[in-house]
Amino acid sequence: MSAQILSGKEVAAKVLADVKVRVAALRDKTGGSPTLAVILVGEDPASQIYVRNKKRAADEVGVTTRDFLFPQGCSQAELLATIAGINRDPAIHGILLQLPLPKGLDEDAAVAAIAPEKDADGLHPMNLGNLLGSKPGAIPCTPAGCVEILDHYGIPIEGAEAVVIGRSRLVGKPLAQLLLGRNATVTMCHTRTRDLAGHARRADILCVAAGRPRMVTGDMVKPGAWVIDVGVNRLDTGKLAGDVDFDSVEPVAGAVTPVPGGVGLMTVAMLMRNTLLAATRQVGGGR
Ligand code: NAP
Repeated sequence: MSAQILSGKEVAAKVLADVKVRVAALRDKTGGSPTLAVILVGEDPASQIYVRNKKRAADEVGVTTRDFLFPQGCSQAELLATIAGINRDPAIHGILLQLPLPKGLDEDAAVAAIAPEKDADGLHPMNLGNLLGSKPGAIPCTPAGCVEILDHYGIPIEGAEAVVIGRSRLVGKPLAQLLLGRNATVTMCHTRTRDLAGHARRADILCVAAGRPRMVTGDMVKPGAWVIDVGVNRLDTGKLAGDVDFDSVEPVAGAVTPVPGGVGLMTVAMLMRNTLLAATRQVGGGR
């Protein structure tokens, strides 16, 4: 048996097409386009690529981007002043603060300075809190993209044993919360978990966001399980690898996301959806 490939490319294209239609409708109604501020500090090559991909997606769906680029770096005060200025600008509806910030800048303070209603990444403490309260506003893009893939392929979440490997604020924790909100029975694993393989093998839905190339192997996967690989790791060879060892997992799993071509594309698509929703809420165009 070989696993179904869960194509992030296909699902992201569907999400982007839907966003594009709704952006056009909003423009017809209000005369303006959703506008996303893109803040990039420093010259991290990976961040530059991510920002380029996000801006390309924005172009594709009709979201306007406004760049706030600090290639030589900036001070915390400058960054906070920039965010405060964008918060006050009614013509900007969403803020993408590309993380990680260079050393010396306080990421938590910068994210907390973003107006919650303009938080396109869904990482502001208020939005994360609302996720806990089951009244989500902006949902973090990568976890939202994982759930979107599961839904697109009709994978039943309710009642499923879901195991999430990784507990970061960016991915693991919000993903576990989203799955819990959909009535999965969720186990979270991390570096102190005893018998990681034993937990993983119980999973109907196994989500891996550990940042460890190919750490989940076929013997850790329940036959027929749905496997979502969030990991994006650059190997010494220059190739990209997920956290899942695709070659050994694919014959065992029922379905698996590839890397590349999986969750990464969803992150960008969900950012566009968050920007549209933020703009819609701010200009009163209905949901
Ligand atoms: P992170 O902040 O480094 O968190 C990694 C998490 O995995 C931590 O909770 C850590 O546990 C856990 N972990 C690490 N090694 C482990 C092991 N051997 N066994 C069990 N748990 C382990 O990483 P992140 O930001 O969540 O990102 C995770 C991966 O997803 C990375 O490869 C990243 O590049 C990728 N990513 C992809 C996208 C996308 O769009 N596709 C977006 C964001 C991130 P402790 O808490 O105990 O340290």
